[in-house]
Amino acid sequence: MNVLVINCGSSSLKFQLIDSETESVLAKGLCERIGIDGSLTYQAGDNEKVTSEKPMPTHSEAIQFVIEALTSSESGVVKSLSEIGAVGHRIVHGGEKFAKSAIINEEVLAAIEECNDLAPLHNPANLIGVNACLKLMPETPMVAVFDTAFHQTMPAKAYMYGIAYDYYDKYKVRRYGFHGTSHSYVSKRAAAFVGKPYDGVKTIVCHLGNGSSISAVLNGESVDTSMGMTPLEGLVMGTRSGDLDPAILEFLAKKEGKDVFELMSILNKKSGVFGLSGNLSSDFRDLETAANEGNDKARIALEVFAYRVAKYVGAYVAAMNGVDVIAFTAGIGENSGTVRKSVLNYLGFLGITLDEDANKKRGEEIQISTADSKVKVLVIPTNEELTIARETVELV
Ligand code: ADP
Repeated sequence: MNVLVINCGSSSLKFQLIDSETESVLAKGLCERIGIDGSLTYQAGDNEKVTSEKPMPTHSEAIQFVIEALTSSESGVVKSLSEIGAVGHRIVHGGEKFAKSAIINEEVLAAIEECNDLAPLHNPANLIGVNACLKLMPETPMVAVFDTAFHQTMPAKAYMYGIAYDYYDKYKVRRYGFHGTSHSYVSKRAAAFVGKPYDGVKTIVCHLGNGSSISAVLNGESVDTSMGMTPLEGLVMGTRSGDLDPAILEFLAKKEGKDVFELMSILNKKSGVFGLSGNLSSDFRDLETAANEGNDKARIALEVFAYRVAKYVGAYVAAMNGVDVIAFTAGIGENSGTVRKSVLNYLGFLGITLDEDANKKRGEEIQISTADSKVKVLVIPTNEELTIARETVELV
């Protein structure tokens, strides 16, 4: 079956058409600047990417262009819409309602909408994508795959914050965690790589991308993760602050004369390694180059990042009373041997020695700890789209 995977943001829409039998990507692309002007970048198979300007006042036009590209006689990869067997939608927040993916129907749509308050920037945009698809492909089954679902196995001691229970009762203020499809995919691949049963292994997954999070996966279940009620908590990220003393908000509000909304925007968009580096860049390639050239702020930003990752790994070793496998994934985790090395420098106490040669390789599943290391350290390229496609096929 061909599965169309859709990841819809407020002004963008990423898509992949995946053949679920061969698990190959037939075509993929991206619509950008929806509601402003609009452009479609489309790539069929291994052909070159083609970008064209297209008017996209709403997501409906964007999806229409995607379908036209996929079915076009020149660049298309299927003859008609009927060859798309299902659509899998990435939905950021499923609250406590969704511990698993769900076939989309009226009831599920209403339940997702009820989670909008928890992810006001993401869920409404995800739903716009679902509704636009439903309009154009009313006969095609659709599945919602949630970023939060994998972490619904966390015990209360991991998801409750140290604030009045009332806030949980009334508003469901708690840790949810994100990047669930990635943590799930990578922890499964990691278990397979080391030849252990998924339900008999302690894994720490370090998903280090522009947004970063770490999870503790005990016997196949997420038992803790670093992102919280929102993706702002935890690691220092590209532009997000991660953990900080909440009293800093009041302090900065007074000093800078800013309200809570302005400060939240700063914590989300102007902080992290971007802010630490003096607004140099959120991209680790730029930061590594600058640090090598002697830029102190860039060096400190990289040190803060790696130190925070190592502290979380230490915490999750305690949470699981041990660890068998540590897996690095996502843009930084897969590509930056320097970051991996800096993190692992803290973890010698676990009996880990870095295999320097393996750590230089890229783009493959690989063990980067030496054969005699007590804990195996792996790089596992993530594949969130494939996970969404698999979940979709399973449900339809
Ligand atoms: P997201 O999906 O959260 O937007 P990704 O997982 O795609 O992010 O990661 C993007 C980040 O990966 C970039 O911002 C950059 O910091 C980092 N990255 C990508 N390639 C490299 C590389 N070769 N070396 C170091 N960092 C890299």
